[in-house]
Amino acid sequence: MNASLLPAVAAFGALALLCPPAPAQSAPAGPSAAAVTGPGVSAELAARRRSQIRDVRYDLALTVGVGDTASGTVTVHFTAVRPGAVVLDFRGLQLGGGRVNGTRWPDAAGAWNRHHVTVPASLVKPGRNAVTLDFATPIANAGAAIIRARDAADSSTYLYTLLVPSDANLLFPCFDQPDLKARVTLHLTTPPSWRALANGAAAARDSSATSVTHHFVATRPLSTYLIAFAAGPWTVTTRHEVIAPNGAPVPTSLFVRASRATEAESDTLLAMNARALRWLGRYFGVPYAFDKYDALLAPAFPFGGMEHPGAVFYNEESFIYRERPTTSQLLGRQATTFHEVAHQWFGDYVTMQWFDDLWLKEGFATFMAARMQADLEPSSNAWKTFYLRNKPVAYGTDATAGTTPVWQRLANLDQAKSNYGPIVYNKAPSVLRQLEYLVGPTAFQRGVQQFLGTHAYGNATWQALLQAIGAASGRDLRSWGTQWMLRPGMPVITQHLETANGRITRLRLVQRPAQPSVSGAGAWPLKVQVRLHYADRPPVSIPVELRGDTTIIAAAAGRPQPAFVFANEGDYGYAIVLPDSASVAWLESRVSEVQDDFLRAMLWGSLWDLVREGELAPGRFARMAMQALPRERDEQLAGSLVGRLNAAVSRYAAEPVRDALLPEVERLLLRGAQDTSATYGSRKAHLDSYVSLARREGALRQLRGWLAGDSAAGLPLRAPTRWAIVTTLIARGAADRDALIAAERRRDNTTEGQRQAFVAGAAAPDSATKQRLFDRWFRDASLNEEWVTSSLRAFHDPDQQRLSRRFLTAALDTLPWIQQNRRIFFLGSWLSGTIGGQTERAALTIIDAWLAAHPSLAPDLRQKVLQSRDDLERTVRVRERY
Ligand SMILES: [Zn+2]
Repeated sequence: MNASLLPAVAAFGALALLCPPAPAQSAPAGPSAAAVTGPGVSAELAARRRSQIRDVRYDLALTVGVGDTASGTVTVHFTAVRPGAVVLDFRGLQLGGGRVNGTRWPDAAGAWNRHHVTVPASLVKPGRNAVTLDFATPIANAGAAIIRARDAADSSTYLYTLLVPSDANLLFPCFDQPDLKARVTLHLTTPPSWRALANGAAAARDSSATSVTHHFVATRPLSTYLIAFAAGPWTVTTRHEVIAPNGAPVPTSLFVRASRATEAESDTLLAMNARALRWLGRYFGVPYAFDKYDALLAPAFPFGGMEHPGAVFYNEESFIYRERPTTSQLLGRQATTFHEVAHQWFGDYVTMQWFDDLWLKEGFATFMAARMQADLEPSSNAWKTFYLRNKPVAYGTDATAGTTPVWQRLANLDQAKSNYGPIVYNKAPSVLRQLEYLVGPTAFQRGVQQFLGTHAYGNATWQALLQAIGAASGRDLRSWGTQWMLRPGMPVITQHLETANGRITRLRLVQRPAQPSVSGAGAWPLKVQVRLHYADRPPVSIPVELRGDTTIIAAAAGRPQPAFVFANEGDYGYAIVLPDSASVAWLESRVSEVQDDFLRAMLWGSLWDLVREGELAPGRFARMAMQALPRERDEQLAGSLVGRLNAAVSRYAAEPVRDALLPEVERLLLRGAQDTSATYGSRKAHLDSYVSLARREGALRQLRGWLAGDSAAGLPLRAPTRWAIVTTLIARGAADRDALIAAERRRDNTTEGQRQAFVAGAAAPDSATKQRLFDRWFRDASLNEEWVTSSLRAFHDPDQQRLSRRFLTAALDTLPWIQQNRRIFFLGSWLSGTIGGQTERAALTIIDAWLAAHPSLAPDLRQKVLQSRDDLERTVRVRERY
């Protein structure tokens, strides 16, 4: 069934009725006509155009405003190097008249099959061509190429585009594939008081009484998914920054919506972006390659950021804080900024040829962000942050039966969204860290520089990257690439320590695939640093390359018996490391004594992996965490440990264990929140966890007491935390839920307050409310996607499983619709939000029955379900065992 037309009606209302009926396909001749002009952009169509078309330019005029439709005209200039029909991609609302090479083309609308416009071969001439088309495309809060956000504080309307990965052809007729880069000249007509920004620099403005047209200069060559603009009554701050040595100052501007302009740290944010541009230009040996640099803080943005060349969009909510930020939040904002700036080289300047190589840009952006943070902020312990932000997430997906290779085959652009996820965002940068360790940082940098120089403003593949790094390092990386790019899954390393008379007799590392049925047999090539840790003498670090299933660490033999062994010191290796029993015994009581924060973070990670493997009881882990937390002085680690304590108690522990632990955990969290000797971030993590865990009468009374005042546990109590308290009270069955929400809304009349009221409502343990909300998620076109995503957790509160379980099948049934109609990260959030609220076997049974009943489910969707199912299966196993 093709569900893609249903949401068009739901999302765009009456406008959808204006769409012409789909005409008979006027496909180019040839056996693969259906593959070429069917929905999406097939790999066949992309390959055919790659050999047919060169030197693309788009001259794009668009009119936007507060209404639901944008109208426009595009002239597509291109060189045809082969004869034949030319296929443009377009799935907007309407297609009107056209011209080809100066002559009216009355059949343009008839040549549109709602997916593509086919210019017949008879109209295409060898050499330069120009095709002009009039069109209309929707503007909506969700489901459109142009996203609308309305500001509740001042009733302003803001618009911004988000075309990645496959929505450029929803915006306008184009060749929507990354390797047909184009220069874009945009003319944007808006209401008179609006400002606008786009990839190109502003050139001129034509004003009339009713509108203003913003003209932008032609861009450098861009892939279609990177085209962007924004329009609205934004407030703008501009600085002139020198970003290349001896270069002229480059204008850099920050766009913020008017109602939040005074809260934005504009100078700090602009300086942070400029600093990254300078550092990366030096590292890559290529100065910033675009003409200006602007950043926009986008309201209700569904991602953390998007790297459009010269016009980076950031998620406003992660960049302007409504209460004092923790160190983790500040480091996260910096990591996001560095990631998007790194994309200006990896992604924007050199782009993957096709979305199968998505990892190339995402892996590099995250890896370079950490490399830069380590250099620019040596005291930030950037690789510890990298570890905490990436490894647990990567392992959490890569150790499941639903995992995929880093390089992911992609038959059609309309499935590209499925390629996003922890494998490209978190595994790929981890694999690059391993590669840099293997070849050394100098050869790695030389190879990367050579790769960027060779493919400037062009496209490339992973093989070209490994070839360049291999050449620079004198290593043949082909088999390494096969193992790490093409093979799905990951290794688990178990440590085996044998001792006699206080000395090591043998230390073995045994490697196995986390999912043999997915990965097949055999070892991954892996270089790690093994640490022998002593309580009373300096540690011994041994670099070792693991080539087979079992590696004996010869250099360890004969050394004194260590306090513990850890096979991935420095986090260079990509593997789940499960310590030997002697190491676990020492760590269980003394892990807090390990002075190195980074190492201690990794050791806690390994202990947590033992819980998830079912080898360490969650109650035992909770006791270790409770013993360590009062002494933990690293803010990020304290936050991570509080999170794991919370999960151990509320998720992995069976109810009797949980209930026995809860009083003590509540007391510990409250004390941690009140501990004036701890950092603000550590105290806030304790407070947040206390709020989310609260179940017992006393704790709920405590929450109400805080709500009546302006502070909680000695910390100022501001809107986001107040809303979290209201959400917990409602989830636990507060009888006065409407009054609670109304009271908070009176204190907080912002758009964010509206969103949090919506989230709090989703927590109501009431079947009719849940049913209404579930329906509204799909029917209400005014809902931003981000609102839906943020309400999932409250909806699927683990204490309400009997209620929420009834929606499991329906939630799974929507997956094909979601894949077609929602943005990149929505599907993953939908599944983890839905399945993540379940801990019982009954839910696992429903999911497995659904999978069995859908044998022809698309493989990418099945994999996504299996990825989310994995933690539920582990949870059920752990709960039944302990
Ligand atoms: Zn990215």
